[in-house]
Amino acid sequence: MKQAIVIGSGLVGSLWAVYLTKAGYKVKVYERRPDMRKANIAAGKSINLATSYRGWKALDAVGLGDEIRKVAIPMYGRTMHLPDGSLNFQQYGADGQAIYSVSRGDINKKLMDAAETSAELHFDEECTTVDMEHNTCYFRNTITGHMSSAKGDVIFATDGAFSAVRYTSMQKMDRFNYSQNYIEDGYKEILLPANADGSPKLAVNTLHIWPRGRFMLIALPNFDNSFTCTLFMPMDGHEHCFRNLTSKEKVDVFFKEMFTDFHAMMPEVSDEWDAHPLSSLAIIRCFPWHYNNTALMGDAAHATVPFYGQGMNCGFEDCTVMWELMQQHDDNWPLVLGEYDRLRKPNGDAVQDLSLNNYLVMRDKVADPAFQLQLKIERRIAELYPDKYFPLYSMVSFTDIAYHEALKRGAAQEVSIWQFIDDHNITAATEQKDIDSLIHLRFG
Ligand SMILES: Cc1cc2nc3c(=O)[nH]c(=O)nc-3n(C[C@H](O)[C@H](O)[C@H](O)COP(=O)(O)OP(=O)(O)OC[C@H]3O[C@@H](n4cnc5c(N)ncnc54)[C@H](O)[C@@H]3O)c2cc1C
Repeated sequence: MKQAIVIGSGLVGSLWAVYLTKAGYKVKVYERRPDMRKANIAAGKSINLATSYRGWKALDAVGLGDEIRKVAIPMYGRTMHLPDGSLNFQQYGADGQAIYSVSRGDINKKLMDAAETSAELHFDEECTTVDMEHNTCYFRNTITGHMSSAKGDVIFATDGAFSAVRYTSMQKMDRFNYSQNYIEDGYKEILLPANADGSPKLAVNTLHIWPRGRFMLIALPNFDNSFTCTLFMPMDGHEHCFRNLTSKEKVDVFFKEMFTDFHAMMPEVSDEWDAHPLSSLAIIRCFPWHYNNTALMGDAAHATVPFYGQGMNCGFEDCTVMWELMQQHDDNWPLVLGEYDRLRKPNGDAVQDLSLNNYLVMRDKVADPAFQLQLKIERRIAELYPDKYFPLYSMVSFTDIAYHEALKRGAAQEVSIWQFIDDHNITAATEQKDIDSLIHLRFG
């Protein structure tokens, strides 16, 4: 029987192990941390995640989508909380289209359960290096210190943004390109609990954003009616930055002044401040993504910043594509992995560019009347001429159009929309019937 090794049982590794067992491989998964289903370990990077089309496609292909849907909360759009206290809702796509908030811990545990039905899962086993010439992985048990090794026909490193396989093995290779760029901003998560009677403090089926120009607060719903809120802000060097929030009083004043409605819902926010870590955000690019029969997947290959909610979705899409290539090339791994690199690298780069651009959109542009006008026109053109116009957000979140194609088409469309708005002097006050006639003339 062919043997596969998966390093890391995070989101991508656990799902990929399911795929490999379905393909008839004997799969061994090695995870550095204890088994999160038994140990009470923190969720890690974020408490909840937005799952969209590409993620569901990869889950459905191995029959796991419906199980995850049971714990997924649809979010049909973004609700902006403006400084004057007013709310503004922007629908994400067509009626009924949504991205879904899921608990990272829940989805990871369900994927591990699915993997474990036919794969071996080894916990507390940290990969120290991979001998890629001989397909051999080396491990250190984090409890006993015991060293061991395992050999596979093929090895997948799904060990996350700071991948040990990439660092200890690939980066030692000639002509391996690598870059790691921290963005200026970090993030801190805060839990907004449900009301005492269990009801939610915010509307549930929407992603909440408090855009404030150079920083923003967001909130995603949890199943128990609490919300996981994340403050993204420069670490340093700005009037409003994490470094300046040095005391409980300063945190309290900051929230009261900047997010007044949020503060009213959670006046004890400053008490929570120190209980949550401050984390950094980086974009990590590298190439190639394989050597011999060892390949990088998920964040190990293309870690990105979280502003498009696509990191996991893109990692899950790696599984879809790898699986399709296995079918096409009959598990001829040199061919499969060569094609995987060729097809996926431009998409890894594009999802990183899209994620960075969307930070500007979320923290600043969503509150800008000019952007709101652009969205309104885009939505209307897409409604009237769906075969001619597909908004960028929809391409990324509601289809599997290649990320690099979506990026290119989105940029061209933005230029054409602004040309259209300028050519006809369209403003927020222009009547809908006049906008419709102009759209028919231009796009009909
Ligand atoms: C704040 C935040 C919000 C996010 N929100 C979203 C979102 O809404 N939607 C979305 O799609 N994505 C989101 N992401 C991105 C998403 O979290 C990642 O893309 C996703 O977790 C990548 O999965 P992975 O399996 O590749 O890596 P990970 O989830 O990091 O898993 C890697 C696993 O490998 C293990 N490991 C590490 N080193 C070793 C070793 N040496 N040996 C053995 N095991 C090892 C780790 O313990 C871990 O279990 C967000 C990220 C952040 C930071």
